[in-house]
Amino acid sequence: MTEQIELLARLIVRSQTIIVFTGAGVSTESGIPDFRSPGGIWSKYDPEDFTIQRFVSSTEARRSFWKMSAESTLLAGAEPNPAHYAIAELHGLGKLDCVITQNIDDLHQKSGVPDNMVLELHGNMRRVVCLDCRNRFPLPDMLSEVSEETRVPDCPGCRGILKPDAVLFGEQLPIVTLREATRRAQQCDLFIVIGSTLMVYPAAYMPTYAASAGARLAIVNLTDTPLDHEAEVVIRGRAGEIMPGVMNCVRRLRSSGPD
Ligand code: NAD
Ligand code: ZN
Repeated sequence: MTEQIELLARLIVRSQTIIVFTGAGVSTESGIPDFRSPGGIWSKYDPEDFTIQRFVSSTEARRSFWKMSAESTLLAGAEPNPAHYAIAELHGLGKLDCVITQNIDDLHQKSGVPDNMVLELHGNMRRVVCLDCRNRFPLPDMLSEVSEETRVPDCPGCRGILKPDAVLFGEQLPIVTLREATRRAQQCDLFIVIGSTLMVYPAAYMPTYAASAGARLAIVNLTDTPLDHEAEVVIRGRAGEIMPGVMNCVRRLRSSGPD
């Protein structure tokens, strides 16, 4: 393990254009469960309510969303963990091209990575978008309108339906973001996957695009992924423990000069 950490640190030191690709696993140590764990949100709410068709056609489905939002740890003060801060440190070193994330939790931005460097393939749950006028609003502002009996707030501008600005089941991924992520993946020199099963497509194509274009690939995840065999470094462990170790090593290598 220590050897792998050192190896990843050396790759980082030698790279100029790094992309970090994250999934739900980077945020579990912030208290947000990933999809597949018991006790995750789908053990409490009906995923059927979160198809775009149902959401648009049913007030009850929308009520369920607002209830979930009011109760969710996503909004109730989830904070970045050491893995997020380690990624933000890469930005501080001037080596981070961007973060491509499947997460909708805003924690990369909260940890100090600028908004325009976080490509959110699945949107962001902290905003809502009006389906009529397309204006976006911070979800916490709208939540203040949700009362005990869970009213369903509508657009303050045009009274249209407010939808979470995250990609619902059956919805297209944001095409501009997807294109930009693909383009950047093909131009980076190091692509680091953190906390993703790499089984949700098209997001999971990104590391393949990067590797096919010549980038080195590193994977930090608790469990196996289908791309482990293609990676130069695979570290099995908790991102919040591994990544600070990697960045310690990076600092040490940089202060001891070029190798
Ligand atoms: P996933 O749930 O499929 O897989 C998460 C992976 O992270 C697993 O392989 C697991 O072994 C690993 N993992 C869990 N804790 C870890 C830790 N501390 N350190 C390292 N690895 C850890 O997640 P996914 O691949 O991102 O895809 C599922 C979908 O769920 C995504 O589309 C995403 O949009 C959505 N999602 C997002 C959030 C969020 O925003 N935080 C939370 C739940 C689900
Ligand atoms: Zn509107």
